[in-house]
Amino acid sequence: MAKNVKTKKPEYFRDKLTTVSKDGSREWVYAKKVKGPLFNRRKILATFLLLIFYIGPIIKIGNNPILLFNILERKFIIFGVVFLPQDIHLILLTFITLILFVILFTVIFGRIFCGWLCPQTIFMEFVFRQIEYLIEGSAAKQRRLNSKPLNFEKLWKKTLKHFIFILIAVITSSTMLSYIIGVGNVIELLKEGPIKNFSGYAGLMVFSGVFYFIFSFFREQVCVIACPYGRLQGVLVDKKSIIVGYDYKRGEPRAPITKDGINTDNGDCINCNACVTVCPTGIDIRNGTQLECINCTACIDACNAVMTRVNKPKGLIRYDSEEGIETGHRSIFNTRSISYSIVLVLLLFFVGYLFMLRGSFETTILRARGSMFQEYGADSLSNIYNFDLVNKSAKLMKIDYLLESPKGRIMYIQGNVPVDAGKVGRGTFLIIIKKDELSSSNTPIIIGLYNKGEKMDTYNTTFVGPNSLDKK
Ligand code: SF4
Ligand code: SF4
Repeated sequence: MAKNVKTKKPEYFRDKLTTVSKDGSREWVYAKKVKGPLFNRRKILATFLLLIFYIGPIIKIGNNPILLFNILERKFIIFGVVFLPQDIHLILLTFITLILFVILFTVIFGRIFCGWLCPQTIFMEFVFRQIEYLIEGSAAKQRRLNSKPLNFEKLWKKTLKHFIFILIAVITSSTMLSYIIGVGNVIELLKEGPIKNFSGYAGLMVFSGVFYFIFSFFREQVCVIACPYGRLQGVLVDKKSIIVGYDYKRGEPRAPITKDGINTDNGDCINCNACVTVCPTGIDIRNGTQLECINCTACIDACNAVMTRVNKPKGLIRYDSEEGIETGHRSIFNTRSISYSIVLVLLLFFVGYLFMLRGSFETTILRARGSMFQEYGADSLSNIYNFDLVNKSAKLMKIDYLLESPKGRIMYIQGNVPVDAGKVGRGTFLIIIKKDELSSSNTPIIIGLYNKGEKMDTYNTTFVGPNSLDKK
């Protein structure tokens, strides 16, 4: 059995999950309602994020939705900018940068993401749990209701709660689907009905079912046993990482406050269990840093309220590092966290720079495979080229190709038509050049790319001719 070095107590708590009882059955967590400044700030942020999430599919930039991850058509739109399979290098680089960002962020800030930004926490604590409080009442009332045999009160409360949960699950799944196939297609799917579009409906129902199951039954188990990010904490977080921690130096030995309020020989923790009863994962933060802790700050708010009532300084449970708690010097902004934060900002700039480099279109001009030069009239040669135009902008686009060097002309054979936003256009043209303009059997040529008369870019390729040109 492991020993907690600081408190010299055996770490029994690490031998079992608080949400699993001795016989292996589930211990339901009845988290008490949280009140406090941190909870209020999290509530504002959660409301803002939920609003963005639900209205996101209908916000458009130009003609494009703000976000779209159409895996089926391999089309991605981020903040109105279209990314096609041709941008795979950019997507991969962004992905690698993101992984690096997550690792560095976690090393410095621990699980701040879990408590403040994770969709699981936001939906659980600010949507589903709040509805539960409204219908079934406080944590104690919920416990009583669940222990009662089925009666009229239990029936209507459970029915109403689960009906609302299912409704939210369907709305949320439809919203999520809108980020994949577009809001127009989701509306179409709902209009068509399950008989006409069975596979679409089945997908939506499975999505909704999983969502409903997670927030009605699985709940904190996502954070405790399923989430890979949570499991990574053990290797990413160290003694300098910011955590929600209990100041055992100040708090121990814990003891209930005496009637006269004098508690001089004991630590500041009055063993009221307020921090435990609000914890959505059912743990006791006073045992030390635990993988189950999602850094939701509920115990900070609860303990601060208790400290205020007993006239002791706030912060017995607080944001700090393990080292800060051990040494008594609060250590959030240290050299490491500042230097890592600078690296994080540089990474963000790097991704931003990559995005800025990306143009509104991409073109490839290749001589037709296996083709050679052809005589064209008495004094000229021609080469045949295939071109691709990838329109990455939000508008219809047409590119005109003009031969800039050497002198000559381009004659379209097929396909120089406008290309829709996010689509690829293909065509073929001939390049015709007088023989005396050619310097070798493989003359470098420059093609200008014009949109509505404005030069957008140039393209370098070569023009083949007879070997006799090399002897000129
Ligand atoms: S809320 Fe504070 S005082 Fe109460 S048990 Fe928790 S740490 Fe101790
Ligand atoms: S220990 Fe505190 S911060 Fe961690 S999950 Fe429980 S209430 Fe939230």
